[in-house]
Amino acid sequence: MRRGSVSVGGVMVCGEVRRGRIHSVTMELAGKGRELADKKDTQVSCLLFFNELLDDPADLFYYGVNRVLAVRHESLKYFNQEIAAKLLAHIVGIYLPEIVLAPATTAGRTYLPAAAAMLHTGLTADCTGLDIDEESGLLLQTRPAIGGNVMATIKTPDYVPQMSTVRPKTFRIPPRMERGGEIVYPEVPTDIFESRIEVMSVEYSDDGDSNIQDKDVIISGGKGLKRAENFAIVRRLAELLDGGVGASRPTVEAKWIGYPHQVGLSGKIVSPKFYLAAGISGAVQHLAGMQTAQKIVAINKDPDAPIFRVADIALCGDAADILPRLTKRITEE
Ligand code: FAD
Repeated sequence: MRRGSVSVGGVMVCGEVRRGRIHSVTMELAGKGRELADKKDTQVSCLLFFNELLDDPADLFYYGVNRVLAVRHESLKYFNQEIAAKLLAHIVGIYLPEIVLAPATTAGRTYLPAAAAMLHTGLTADCTGLDIDEESGLLLQTRPAIGGNVMATIKTPDYVPQMSTVRPKTFRIPPRMERGGEIVYPEVPTDIFESRIEVMSVEYSDDGDSNIQDKDVIISGGKGLKRAENFAIVRRLAELLDGGVGASRPTVEAKWIGYPHQVGLSGKIVSPKFYLAAGISGAVQHLAGMQTAQKIVAINKDPDAPIFRVADIALCGDAADILPRLTKRITEE
């Protein structure tokens, strides 16, 4: 939609419901949406679409949402990109938000571009920073560019809504605050729920340790581990600390470990309380995925390794030697 052709307003957050639960990324975006809306003195709405909902949508008010737009339909049992895109485009057409924020999850990455195309607007994917330009009131969308070497800040003055996807864990969930709001069940024409795609079944990977974004502790391995077998030491320490296993991209490319474990620009962004990087050099693309961790410990045999610049504790030495010693020490305590 071209700016000027319609009257617009508000921030709309696209929530994500997985197996009936409101995913935490919804609260992260609600908090950021609230911040942006406060700067523009406007409201935050949150679109939730689902077949069943086990959580109370009113909980989103605590995170700054003024209005939950809840759409329930049996066709939403499994994520369907075509239906999700049509639904979002329809809801945007009714509520005319100025800004639309969505998670850069597998689902968000597929239906947001399609919805943006339907709305004849643009989309800035994988934003790591969002703000409001004081002068123009436009959304400032910051994202890594040129292999993560440059942070580009993008303004889209001509098109509305301004749409962004944001990776989970980029923004922190704000503290809960007592606030009110309304839950609206918008009417949606039935043809929105028709699709050429029929999802027959979905198999969920319950490989708990690959779900690293929810972990408080992550132990990650890099090429400095030398061999795939050495990931066993990383796993052992992670298990001991009830943590997840992370990895650098070259170890994933070498098939030492699966892609769900990759941390970084082209992997997952994590923000745990404790991140241990063993045999990881600390390339900008890796740092982009973990530098917001609260405590970073790095093991590297090169005293000049860039990872030491972001580390709170630097252990200079052989990872294959230090990791088992750490594990032994923790087991004994
Ligand atoms: P290396 O660079 O090979 O470093 C190995 C480190 O181990 C060195 O610092 C070395 O001193 C140390 N070492 C060696 N032996 C030992 C030992 N015995 N004990 C302790 N330390 C030892 N990378 C990611 O990780 N995630 C991404 O998402 C990602 N996305 C990318 C996207 C793009 C567009 C591009 C261009 C690159 C991306 N990369 C990503 C790759 C990134 O640039 C680096 O190549 C990568 O992070 C390096 O991985 P590494 O540190 O494991 O390996």
